[in-house]
Amino acid sequence: MDPSAHEAIGKKLVEWFEANGRDLPWRKEHRPYQIWISEIMLQQTQVKTMLPYYHRWMERFPDVRCVASASDEELLKHWEGLGYYSRVKNIAATARVLCADFGGDLPRNHRALRGLPGIGPYTAGAVMSLAFNEDCPAVDGNVERVLARLLDIAMPVKERKAAEFIRKTAQDLIPRGDARRFNQAIMDLGAMVCSPARPSCGRCPLSFFCVSLARGVAEERPVRSAGRKPLAIDVAVGILVKEGRVFIQKRPASGLMPGLWEFPGGKTVEGETPREALIRELREELDVGVRDLKKIALIRHSYTSFRVSLHAFTCALSDEDAQPEVRAAVEGRWVARQDLDDYAFPAANRKLIRLLLKDGSLLPDVRGLASRHRT
Ligand code: SF4
Repeated sequence: MDPSAHEAIGKKLVEWFEANGRDLPWRKEHRPYQIWISEIMLQQTQVKTMLPYYHRWMERFPDVRCVASASDEELLKHWEGLGYYSRVKNIAATARVLCADFGGDLPRNHRALRGLPGIGPYTAGAVMSLAFNEDCPAVDGNVERVLARLLDIAMPVKERKAAEFIRKTAQDLIPRGDARRFNQAIMDLGAMVCSPARPSCGRCPLSFFCVSLARGVAEERPVRSAGRKPLAIDVAVGILVKEGRVFIQKRPASGLMPGLWEFPGGKTVEGETPREALIRELREELDVGVRDLKKIALIRHSYTSFRVSLHAFTCALSDEDAQPEVRAAVEGRWVARQDLDDYAFPAANRKLIRLLLKDGSLLPDVRGLASRHRT
């Protein structure tokens, strides 16, 4: 593509953006903190899903210092439901580095940004361009798709050669000194016009330049590498009930869904029913036997790499005086049903809690005691 086409594309896109760009809260003041948080929240998450989280977060944590001084538990609770919990851990770690080394501000330097936990080339480029208006590309899934179609890239876009070509083109297309508007424009074009399922080429400002449209292959771009099918797993969880309270446990700070609370249980193994798996898991994880198992729900939930069928049982301790001894988890508590909302849970557990809160009859022997105690 020659430089005059670059210039024309940049101009067309910015004009289109001025008339059609999305009105998003972090775009009003161009504050680096707001842009950073919004970009992290938007990873793997749609704008309409993340917006309520964003507003809640900004109300409670209006700046970097508020994040740095908050407890991990509170940060997690504000993130609950957004998934990919390592993101919030990285936000906390970055906020602490920013307070210790950068006066509580994000640095206006691509390399320094890249050195912060959880900030990769895309987020660094987004902060540099959207907050500081520096001529840096920010290639997210939307930009990748627009450029793969515009240039008709016939190889998988995640392959190194294609990815480098896309990044270089995204850099070359930026009208000098206008990265903020240009990057927002191409992101919005990907989200609103050049959409994943079907591009609306009839209302695209770039249709004149679009190679895949001219060749009639726009819907076949971008080319994806053959992916793995999400794994289907069956998990049995126990809602252990005792004196009006239920037992929950906290996952370790590293690994999958770090620091979240959950009902105890685990995956079924081959040839095992969910009921059998639960009895085994509670023995292994908590060293307790259980009685009166009653299946109350089957919850299905899809995560990125697996689909879970959560078989939920209510049950009681065989020995009422036994104290569950957490082994796989880091902490366990007996909590009142109405207090479950105070804790951050993975999405499938949260669906189960909604059911429990909606229908009190699902839990036997729950009289709603408000007090808690640790095991
Ligand atoms: Fe996408 Fe169509 Fe525009 Fe090409 S013309 S960039 S395929 S919307």
